[in-house]
Amino acid sequence: MCGIVGYIGGQNAYPIIINGLKRLEYRGYDSAGIALYNGKSTSVYKKYGKVSDLENSVAGLDTSGCLGIGHTRWATHGEPNDKNAHPHMSMHGKFVIVHNGIIENYSNLKKRLTTRGYTFKSETDSEVLADLIEYIYELSPISPDDAVQLALRKVQGAYGIVVMCTDHPDRLIAARKSSPLVIGIGDKEYFIGSDASPFVEYTDQVVYLDNDQIAVISREGLNIKSINNAVVTPEIKKVDIDFDEIEKGGFSHFMLKEIYEQPRSITDTMRGRVLSEVDKITLGGLIDVMPRLMNARRIIIVGCGTSWHAGLMGEYLFEEYARIPVEVEYASEFRYRNPIINQEDVVIAISQSGETADTLAAIQLAKKYGACVLGICNVVGSSIARETDAGVYTHAGVEIGVASTKAFTAQVSVLAMMALMIGRAKYNIKSADYHQLIRELMSIPEKI
Ligand code: GLU
Repeated sequence: MCGIVGYIGGQNAYPIIINGLKRLEYRGYDSAGIALYNGKSTSVYKKYGKVSDLENSVAGLDTSGCLGIGHTRWATHGEPNDKNAHPHMSMHGKFVIVHNGIIENYSNLKKRLTTRGYTFKSETDSEVLADLIEYIYELSPISPDDAVQLALRKVQGAYGIVVMCTDHPDRLIAARKSSPLVIGIGDKEYFIGSDASPFVEYTDQVVYLDNDQIAVISREGLNIKSINNAVVTPEIKKVDIDFDEIEKGGFSHFMLKEIYEQPRSITDTMRGRVLSEVDKITLGGLIDVMPRLMNARRIIIVGCGTSWHAGLMGEYLFEEYARIPVEVEYASEFRYRNPIINQEDVVIAISQSGETADTLAAIQLAKKYGACVLGICNVVGSSIARETDAGVYTHAGVEIGVASTKAFTAQVSVLAMMALMIGRAKYNIKSADYHQLIRELMSIPEKI
């Protein structure tokens, strides 16, 4: 994971990018870097450590310019140091790139570029991609956008990238596969982020880039196409992030703040869903799939890390109340074996971000076998929310702490509501017990 920010417009890009990186530091914090075009040339500043170390290291240097990209890294290839920090500039200085993800065939690409005279300054997989784009760009007279597109066709792995071309400093090129990217739309200005938090004070109009899409962004507009050249009409959505959610609000760190937020986050997760006046639990997102849920032969819960642990609690809840056998699987195990799945199965994918790559791959597999696939995630409009048949959002709010707290308890709250709703619909729970369980559920925020 890592955090990406980009800006093109009429404002000074530096403060927007630095503040944006600070908000994304939860995604990666071993090093940070920024590239800025000042109207004449492009400068790249990179620093081992936190975004504040980068900020200190550029004090007094030229940070002017209305076009730039930034990155806060969580290393996968090459140790955390200044050299391996992003952005990476290609060997001839034509392209500068920030990358979130892993280029799985980078070593092969690196060997091939080496035989063509390329040398590398870092140990990262990302620098190889910058050089590959440049190599393709210099082979024949093509646009930088086409060079990015052609290079990505040669790449295996996961990426969210934002690219600057020093020959064409009038645009940013963004592309994604399995790593999230959101484009914020302002007035003759555009923002890019791994999520929308870097630019919430500037705009609430966003476009979520989909897998295998490339966006070419200039001050005049945004053009999106697929990696195979199909034109895509951008679907503009409104994001709803409360500014307070991304500030520490007097707590010494985000995790502590989020622990204290749990009475509120659980109340929000149950709001309008657990209706104690009428003794009813209604999860609007599941109404259409209730027949499949009630007749499910088996429920398979997939997730990673914390979400997998929430799934373990889901197993107890579903078996107890809905009386449906449950299996809980690590999404990474599930996707790489050959699981038996059929049309009577319901697969529930749990992920805070809604972007967990292994969980997304598990969803694809389950869909291929015709299972009904549901999502439980926290980020509205995320990939998992879009790729599942139906689902329930955990309204936990933005979770920035790396160790999950409020997102976990919100996931368990959703699983409890689902188990009780199905259990009651199947007449497994007596009316008096259901009444009592609803009361208990409602009392949890106060007990916390
Ligand atoms: N694989 C890249 C690196 O190690 C990107 C890691 C990230 O997503 O932060 O630099």
